[in-house]
Amino acid sequence: EAKRQGRQRYCLYETGMSVAIQNRVCLEADLRHSLQCGGDGLEVYYQPQVSTDLKSGTCKVTGVEALVRWFHPDQGQIPTLDFINIAEDAGLIGALSDWIFREACTDLVNWHQSGFKLHLSINLSPHQLNNDNLASELIQLLERTGIDPNYLTLEITESVDVKDTRKAAKMLSQLSARGISLAMDDFGTGYSNLGYLKSLPLDILKIDRSFVKQIEDKEEDRKLVRGIINLARGMGLKIIAEGVETEEQMNFLQEQKCHTFQGYLFGRPMHKLSVLALLANAEPNVFNEAISLPDLS
Ligand code: C2E
Ligand code: MG
Ligand code: MG
Ligand code: MG
Repeated sequence: EAKRQGRQRYCLYETGMSVAIQNRVCLEADLRHSLQCGGDGLEVYYQPQVSTDLKSGTCKVTGVEALVRWFHPDQGQIPTLDFINIAEDAGLIGALSDWIFREACTDLVNWHQSGFKLHLSINLSPHQLNNDNLASELIQLLERTGIDPNYLTLEITESVDVKDTRKAAKMLSQLSARGISLAMDDFGTGYSNLGYLKSLPLDILKIDRSFVKQIEDKEEDRKLVRGIINLARGMGLKIIAEGVETEEQMNFLQEQKCHTFQGYLFGRPMHKLSVLALLANAEPNVFNEAISLPDLS
C-alpha cells in the first residue's frame, strides 16, 4: 500500500512486482512529487574546476560543474545516474533539467554578486538536445537572471540518444553565438564520429576519468591521453582533465600541457555554501595549499 511508517508515500504498486521494480516505481513517484514541491530533497552540488599556472606556481578555482544530488528521505543519497535514468524513463527529465538550470543559474548570480567571477558548467541531457525550444528557453533564462553568457558552459556527451544531430548542432550554434561555451564531456567513451564533433561549435574537450585513472600504470592510456590532447589542441579547444585524484596524474597532464583539472585531488562536488567558503578562503592559492584544499563537501 501507499502508506508506510506514517509518512505519505506517493506510489501504488501491484502485488507480484519484484522488490526492485516496486522500489523503482516508488522512486519515480517520489521524484515526481519532489519536483512538484519545488525540488524537495534535491540539491545542486558543485565541483571545482581548477587552473594551474606553472610559472607563478599558483592554482585557482576558475569554474564549477553543477552536479545534481538527491537525498531521499528514506533511502538516503540516490546515485545521480540512477535517478537521471529514472527521470528519463518516467518523462521527468524535462522538469528535472529545468529545475537544475534555475537553481544553478541563481547560485551563479549570487556568486557573481559576491564578487567571484566564476564560470558555471551544466550538463545537458540528450532530452534537452532533442528539445527544439532549448535555445529560446535558455536565452530567456539568461535574460531573466541577468547572467553573462560568457560565464556559462554547456556540457554534452557523445550520445546515441540525440535524434537529429544536425538540428542539435544548429541549436548549439545559436547558443554559441550568444557567448555560451560548449564542452564535449567524457570524451572518447561515446560513439561519436569525428564528423559530428567537427559540426559542433565546441570550445572545450573534457578527457574522461576512465583514461586519467590508470595514467600511472598503463603506457597505452598515456598514449591515448597524449593523442586526445593533441587532437583537442589541433582543433583549437581547451582541455579539462576529469577525475584527477593524484599528484602523479596532475604532473603527467601538466607535462602534456593540460592545465585545467577537475577531480577529488582539488575538491569533491560540494554544497553551494561550501563553494562560497572555498572562494572566500582560497583565492588566489599556492599550489601545495590548493592540493590540500579543505574538504568542504
Ligand atoms: P560527468 O558530467 O562526467 O560528471 C563527473 C562525474 O565524475 C561526477 O559524478 C563526479 O562526482 C565524478 N567525479 C569527479 N571527480 C572525480 C574523481 O576524482 N574521482 C571519481 N571517482 N569521480 C569523480 P556524478 O555526480 O555521480 O555524476 C555522474 C554523471 O551523471 C555525470 O557525469 C553526468 O553525466 C550526469 N549528471 C550529473 N549531474 C547532472 C545534471 O545536473 N544534469 C544532467 N543532465 N546530468 C547530470
Ligand atoms: Mg559533465
Ligand atoms: Mg564528465
Ligand atoms: Mg565522466
